[in-house]
Order: sequence, then C-alpha cells, then structure tokens
Amino acid sequence: MSAERVIYAADVVYNGVGLPLENAGVLVSSTNTIVAFGKLAALQIQFPEVKTQRLGQAILPRPVNAHTHLDLSQVPFKALPYPRWIPEHIISNQALRGLEGAKIGLEVLRQSGIGTFGDIVYSEEVMKFVLSESELAGVAYWEVLNPMPDQATDIMTQTIERIKGWRKLENNIKIGLSPHAPFTVSSLLLKQLSGFAKLEGLPMQIHVAEHPSELELFRTGTGTLAKSVQKSGFPAFETSWGRKPDPDLTPVKYLAELGVLEAKPTLIHMVNVTEEDVKIIAQYGCSVVSCPRSNFNLECGNIPWKLYAKYGVELALGTDSSASGETLNIREEANAALKYLEIDLKHVVRWAVKGGYRALGIKAPIIQRGDDFSSLIVWE
Ligand SMILES: [Zn+2]
Repeated sequence: MSAERVIYAADVVYNGVGLPLENAGVLVSSTNTIVAFGKLAALQIQFPEVKTQRLGQAILPRPVNAHTHLDLSQVPFKALPYPRWIPEHIISNQALRGLEGAKIGLEVLRQSGIGTFGDIVYSEEVMKFVLSESELAGVAYWEVLNPMPDQATDIMTQTIERIKGWRKLENNIKIGLSPHAPFTVSSLLLKQLSGFAKLEGLPMQIHVAEHPSELELFRTGTGTLAKSVQKSGFPAFETSWGRKPDPDLTPVKYLAELGVLEAKPTLIHMVNVTEEDVKIIAQYGCSVVSCPRSNFNLECGNIPWKLYAKYGVELALGTDSSASGETLNIREEANAALKYLEIDLKHVVRWAVKGGYRALGIKAPIIQRGDDFSSLIVWE
C-alpha cells in the first residue's frame, strides 16, 4: 500500500465491463481504494500531481479457467496427435487418473489466483471431493461417454440418480453435465442428456470439432479418428448416430439436428469449424472455450477466433488437463494464445474474465470505484 495516491499503469486494464482498455491505469487512494479507471494519458492529465507506477502487462479481475480435467493432474504431459493421444496416453495411464490427481489439480488452481473454474469430472469420488472440498466457486461437469444406443436408457437413469444425489451437496460448486463429444455418445443418449440439462437448468460442456479428423469423421466416416474409435470397439456410426456421415455434415450441424444446442451448451475447442457452424452456434447463444496449448500439442490447429468475433460469439480460455495443456495456469494459457493466435492482449484478457464467467454461467465480477485495489490482480 502506498502512502500517497498512485496511478498503477499496465498495457491493458480491465474492470470486467466491455473491452479492456489499452495503455491504461487505475488511480488508487492512500488507503488502496480504487478512485478511477481510464486511459493512462487521460488520468495523467486529470491528476498531474499523482505519480505513475507501471505494474506490468495487465491489471484485471481474477480470471477464469473455464475448462480443466483436474483428475488427470498426475498423468504426465505428452504431445501426440489427438486421435492417438486418448488411446495411447490417457487410456494407458488410466491408473494415474482419479482422486489424487484431482487433489493436486485443485490446489494448483487455488494457488494460481483464479476467480472460478469449470472442471470435467469422470468419477464419483472426484465429484464428491470437488463438491465438498473446493473453496473456489466453479462448475463440476459430470462427464458421460457411451456410444452404445442400447445402453442409453440405463446410463440416463444412472446419470439422473447421481446428479439428484449430488445436487444436495452443491455449495461453492455447481453441478453441470458433459456429454464427452458428439462422436463418443450415442445420439439417443445425447438427446436425453441435453433434454435433462435443459429441464434442470444444468450448465453443459461438450468437446466439439477438436481435431481435423473429427470433421472428416462426420463427413466421410473415415480418417484417423474413425480408425481409432473403431479399434476401441465403437459401433458403426449409423448405429451410434442414427444417421450416416454426409459431406455436408459437421459435428456442430449434427448437434443442432439432434436438438442438443437448444440446451445452450458451452462448446470446448471448436477449432475445426465452418463459417456456417459459427453462425449456427451464434444463433443458439452458445459460448466457446479455447485451449490454445492443448490444441497445439495435440495437433488440432488454431481456433479461428476472428470468425467467432465476426458473429459475436463469446470466447473463454481454459487450460484443458495438464496432460495435454502442460499446466493449469491460465496466465500461461493467455501467453500461449498470444503466441499461437496472433491476437491482442486486450481480447485475451476479456476471454479470461468476462468470457470465462459467461461460459460457466456465473455472474462476472465488475470492479468499481470504491472497491479495494486487491480485488484486481496483476499479470507482470
Ligand atoms: Zn477437455
């Protein structure tokens, strides 16, 4: 705390409203109270007697890690093309997945200074742990993965029972639902899960259009992802999806066709999309979470963020698991976005704050005059 008033300056300053300001500052009183936000030049003209202290690249509210898999925190990082990464790395390291990883991951998140997070949860013990132990607010999305249509009813009954039981434990953490991906959950189950989520007001996340081979799968039924899922014992696509692949089909159009987008799920990755896909999700009001490091490491490509901006789709930032995204640190993810996506810091800061809260369905903090400066953090 300074004994005098001071203007704290940074390349980007954000109070949570609209777009972050570039070359801006925060005027802070001797008691560390925020007096004004503004462009640095304007603040310096208005308060000529006040000294300026540069704090770093960005001053912002606590950011959001909108997509994690905490239970994979003990699985080592490995870069591999996505169709190989799940069978060769995640399934072969299944013994390292679970509660111990989730404990480590949650502690890493807590220490990283974020405001909230969205985690994909794959086991009951991890769900109970996150619900009862997390001091951080967030959403724990129960992940469902099952491509067998003849098992859809049983899985749905089991999912409803589990979620009803857990809802009594909701406190800092809200329960959500995550059908894993359009090609790993049968169309019957996808319809039932999204219908249930809509009815119960459960937030949803789905991994969509992650690797180029996912688009190829929906268009042709062939390619590296098609081979990988066939090897894993998935049924024929017509059986699981209730329709054939089609040259005009995309994972997004398939979800729209099934009515899944009516539940307004937050869509994760969305790298390999068409302009029509982006228009469709804009109409439904879906948010998108980008995980640039994971996309790079699994050879998925870069998210076409300008296309999303064109149609007003809100983007958020997530680290994915540390097994594909390297760390659970959202600041490091923001640096990766700057490196891979040719994007300005002000956009990335908005993704990390406003976009993140929107993706999770949690009200974003708005920092105002009169608030303590410690309600903001600094990216040096
Ligand atoms: Zn993920």
